Parts: sequence; C-alpha cells; structure tokens
Amino acid sequence: MLHDFIIIGAGVTGITLCKLLREKFPNILVLEAESEIGGLCKTKVINGHILDIGGGHFFGTKYDEVYQYIFKYLPKKDFNYFQRVSKINIENTDIDYPIESNIWQLPIEKQIEYIISVVRNEEALGVKEPKNYEQWIRWKLGNKICDNYMIPYNIKLWGVEPAEMDIDWLYKIPRVNVEEVIRYCLEKTQDVNKYPAHIKFYYPKDGGFGSIVNAIAEDELQYIKTDTKAEKLVFDENSKTWLINDKYRAKNVINTTPWNDLYKSLGEPHHLKKHFDKIKYNKIVVSLYEKTYTHNYHWRYIPNITEQHHREFYIHNFAPASKNNGIYIETNIDRFNKDKITFQGRNICHFETKAAYPIPVISHADAIKNILEYYKGKNLFGVGRWGQHQYQNADVSIMEAIKFVRDFT
Ligand SMILES: Cc1cc2nc3c(=O)[nH]c(=O)nc-3n(C[C@H](O)[C@H](O)[C@H](O)COP(=O)(O)OP(=O)(O)OC[C@H]3O[C@@H](n4cnc5c(N)ncnc54)[C@H](O)[C@@H]3O)c2cc1C
Repeated sequence: MLHDFIIIGAGVTGITLCKLLREKFPNILVLEAESEIGGLCKTKVINGHILDIGGGHFFGTKYDEVYQYIFKYLPKKDFNYFQRVSKINIENTDIDYPIESNIWQLPIEKQIEYIISVVRNEEALGVKEPKNYEQWIRWKLGNKICDNYMIPYNIKLWGVEPAEMDIDWLYKIPRVNVEEVIRYCLEKTQDVNKYPAHIKFYYPKDGGFGSIVNAIAEDELQYIKTDTKAEKLVFDENSKTWLINDKYRAKNVINTTPWNDLYKSLGEPHHLKKHFDKIKYNKIVVSLYEKTYTHNYHWRYIPNITEQHHREFYIHNFAPASKNNGIYIETNIDRFNKDKITFQGRNICHFETKAAYPIPVISHADAIKNILEYYKGKNLFGVGRWGQHQYQNADVSIMEAIKFVRDFT
C-alpha cells in the first residue's frame, strides 16, 4: 500500500500528527521502535508510586489551541491545577526558583555577595552581548550566580561545557534586571510573572503525565505499528516515494526522532555529515526512591556538583493518588554511577531515557535548518522536539504538529 504519510515515532508529536493528518488523508501509518507508545511522556505505577519515567513532566501552555486539543481528549476536570513550588538548593538553603528573584531568601551575608556580583555584571557595565552560553550567563547574572548555580547545574543537566553551548534557547530562562533583583531583596518578595514557564501547571488526577498521551492516542492505536524501528529509508527519485525497511512505502515521511540516529538509515548522506554531527542529545536516568518528606515542594534543583543528580520530584505533592513517600530524581547518564549514588533513600528502580534533551551546541540551529531544507525537497519532514531539534516541551511539539498539518498543502 502507498501511504500518504508515514510518521516515525509514536510520542506525543507522532500521535498528534497521526490524529490530525487522518482528518485530511486516508492512509497514515506510524512506526514506533518500542513496544509501547508515548515516548518521553510515559508513566508507570510502581509500588503505588506514579512515576513519569521520562522525567518530571507538567502541563501548561501559552497556546489556546493546545489547551483545547488536550482538554478535548482528557477533560480539564480530570486535572489538578497547581501553583508551582520549585526550590533551588544553594548555600545550604532551599530558595524559590528563579534564583535572580529570590536572593532575598539567602542568609544576609550571602545576599550581599550575590547582589554585588549581580550589580557588577557585564551587561550593566555596557559590555556587548556575548555569543556562547557561559559568557552570556556571566554577562547577564554576574559570577556568583554563575559559579554556584548556573554553571554547575547546566554541566550536570546537559553533560557539556556551557562554553560549547549556543544562546538561542535562552528564552527558557527568566529575564530579570539588576533593578528588579535589588527591589525583590528590599521588598522581600518576587514577581512570579517572571517565570519563563509553568507558574501554574496542570497534572492529571489519575495516572501521571502519560494519561494525557494515552487519552490522545486512544483512537490512533490501530494506525501505530509498535516494535517497528525505522532502520532503512530509501527515496525513489522516479516515483518520488519513500520505502522504509524494504516494506512500507509512502509519498511523505515525517520524522519525530533524533536526526543523528537516522544518519545511517538514510544511507549516510555524506554531503550533510557536518550538519548531522552537530545534532546531539543527552540521556538521563530517572530513579525512584521512598523517603519521608513533609514539605510542599513539587520539585527541587540541585546544582551542587558533588551530588550526582540535578533534580528531585516529590510525587505526592502533584499526584495525590501516589503514595506519600515517593521521590524520583533525574541524573545525566554520563554522571550516573549506580555504586556512588549520593541521594539518600530506599531505591525502588531506575529508568534510562533514550534521547532526553537536544543539546544546543554552537551552530546546531544552522545544522538542523540545512538538514530540514534538504529533506523537505524529498518530502521528508521533521516535526517536534527531535524532528526540529529544539528544546520544545510537549505543548510546543503539539503546536508544531498542529501547524504542520494546517500548513501542509
Ligand atoms: C526530563 C524531561 C522533562 C520534561 N518536562 C516537560 C514538562 O514538564 N512539560 C512538557 O510539556 N514537556 C516536558 N518535556 C518535553 C517532552 O517530553 C517532549 O517535548 C515530548 O515528549 C516530545 O515528544 P516527541 O513525540 O516529539 O518525542 P518522543 O517522546 O521522544 O517520542 C519519539 C518516539 O520515537 C520513537 N523512535 C525513536 N527512534 C525511532 C525509529 N528509528 N523508528 C521508530 N520509532 C522511533 C521513540 O521510541 C519514541 O517513542 C520534558 C522532557 C524531558 C526529557
């Protein structure tokens, strides 16, 4: 059969594409490498704990269309709605996120050190905006916040040196100026509207984040072939069609998986190698623990470099149906050493993600642009976190899928 579209990957992007494309085209097929759908948005219930095995997932969006889309399949009444409580553990204190707005929560001696550092930042001194991430955060926030929080946290999360990273994803971090930092300290308050995302968030009442994807996927399951990894993609110039794994033929293919993993499957396109080489991602390990806690935190950032993990999630505080002593932590796979785990608690299990974060190495944006432009000419498209190789949350990947289908002619 000649399919109108074959979609590679049945995460939230692939499933959304399938659903929306089916409204316009009769023959859609989704190929999924794993035995289960959902990609990074999968949840498992283990020992009474609701565990999002792809790491900490919360729902919120600036797109009304995405709210309408999600609530159509999992009604709003089936979510709890939370005011975010996220902390940063720094200088042996838990302060609210983001650090720039909450220096006033540190001991007074530390406040003075941090404020002096912020005031002396290079931006305030009129220095030109730098081009790599490490220089940029120093320029913006001063050395103290960088050395004690931003640099170690980002090394832990990304697994690459901040000096090797681009600055095009920085809309993800809060923008607070020197005057605001001082004002918050004097007024001992913060402006929560400075949060870049998730000031408030939705989380399903039943199950975890995976319930959202399962609800969307309900009508799509018959179009998804699980345990089917796309391993060989061949374009026939005469018929202008793709043949995948010598078996599935399509007029159009949409990739929702990391492009660098497809390099061989695409027959090693040497003329694009330098671009494929710039497409990098990291992996994380999600580890579930049991340990009693009484605070109301949803999650906590751990910049301390001597600790393996970088974030902790207090499950019962956002999933009340989950047992009250469940915590899971995220660790970059390169730092993960089972014999030297620094987190204290009763370990239940570990899950390894496949691709977790697309790493914004310098010139990654140019690389993905070249790859997408080349393959668009062959009716092979990229959509979503991996397809567009952008630090997209699920809501943005859904929006990109909506836009793709709307604009496709
Ligand atoms: C730690 C972490 C925290 C996050 N927190 C949030 C959050 O709070 N809120 C939020 O909205 N988003 C969050 N995200 C982002 C969210 O997970 C992604 O935006 C979303 O899951 C992307 O979906 P996707 O379908 O594009 O990719 P994926 O979910 O990665 O799906 C890709 C699918 O392709 C399959 N696949 C791979 N290779 C092949 C192949 N060759 N053939 C066939 N199938 C293949 C994979 O098995 C997978 O199922 C977070 C992500 C991470 C890692």
